[in-house]
Amino acid sequence: MTIRNLSKKFGSFVAVEDLSMDVEDGKFVALLGPSGCGKTTTLRMVAGLETSDSGEIYFGNDLMNDIPTEKRDVAMVFQFYAIYPDMSVYDNIAFPLKMQNLPRDEIAKRVKEAAESVRISDILGAKEGALTVGEKQRVAIARAIVRNPKVYLFDEPLTNLDARLRTAMRTEIKKLHRSLGQTSIYVTHDQLEAMTMADKVAVMNNGKLLQYDVPEILFDKPKNTFVAGFIGTPPMNLLDCSLVEKSGKTLLDFGDFSLDITDFQKDGGLRDGSLVAGFRPSDVKIGREGRDGGTSFQAEVSASEDLGDKKLLELKVGASSINTIQPYDSALNPGEKVQVQVALSKLHLFSRKTKEAIL
Ligand code: ATP
Repeated sequence: MTIRNLSKKFGSFVAVEDLSMDVEDGKFVALLGPSGCGKTTTLRMVAGLETSDSGEIYFGNDLMNDIPTEKRDVAMVFQFYAIYPDMSVYDNIAFPLKMQNLPRDEIAKRVKEAAESVRISDILGAKEGALTVGEKQRVAIARAIVRNPKVYLFDEPLTNLDARLRTAMRTEIKKLHRSLGQTSIYVTHDQLEAMTMADKVAVMNNGKLLQYDVPEILFDKPKNTFVAGFIGTPPMNLLDCSLVEKSGKTLLDFGDFSLDITDFQKDGGLRDGSLVAGFRPSDVKIGREGRDGGTSFQAEVSASEDLGDKKLLELKVGASSINTIQPYDSALNPGEKVQVQVALSKLHLFSRKTKEAIL
């Protein structure tokens, strides 16, 4: 699938702006971003449920722009599973095939296979009222599978499920994709869902595609402050700082503390002195002893949160606050002074003006 310069406005509001991306055949791609960023609108344009103002959508070499939804050979699974309440599970799954006037035994065979793949063979006679939320979602997925479409489009299909079921269904959808091998686009605002399920993730904000890459690259090399702050839990620490040269050293001055990055500065890029520094909570080391200077500075523990297998500590240095992940048995408590060390090899630097990464 190729999407070129796709744009869509609702009145004067720009919902999607100049979006271009390629989806390789058979890949699972997530559209990820906060509520209202244009994910669903993009998906609906791919499905043909929404027209674009400009840009093109190709499936292979075929331009889809003027092809109606029913001829695009896509199946959608929505957040709100639309199950016909008066029909049995069997008839719900069979419905799209009956619309195609397929022979009865062909329908029976395909319904059986689809039901088996999402493990609902034992409830084919049931009606909606007797189904759990998870079963309803499986019925909706089976109804998509049964058509054997070219492309699957998922719009936040797991949002209504409880946390445990979400995790289980996440694994199931991923397994299903592996066995069907069909191109899939999956809309979600949940970064963990996107990062764990997708081959590639497209991060969107305000209608724009900000970065489109494999999960590891989004995590390790975010292109801008938005992606840096959106991917990863707890989120990356993002602090304003200025680049200063002092006694032959290159320092990042945060106001309340500074970091000596002389040995880590790479060629070029750092001409803009107004920066945002980013480092993940897991890349902050703390101890009780040590001297200020270089890459080490003093801070005070301001909050401690137990995450079960680890602890999230919030540190204060003047007006700045820094989150850090520590072992679960860390005995540090609010009010205690600590010495902080940031792993400079893991430091990200962004221009404060453009918000784009410069290192
Ligand atoms: P969510 O997760 O909340 O669904 P989203 O990223 O999928 O968010 P979209 O549904 O694509 O976002 O909506 C993008 C913006 O366009 C939103 O501000 C929404 O209010 C607006 N919008 C969507 N559809 C219409 C419409 N038919 N008419 C007017 N505005 C719309």
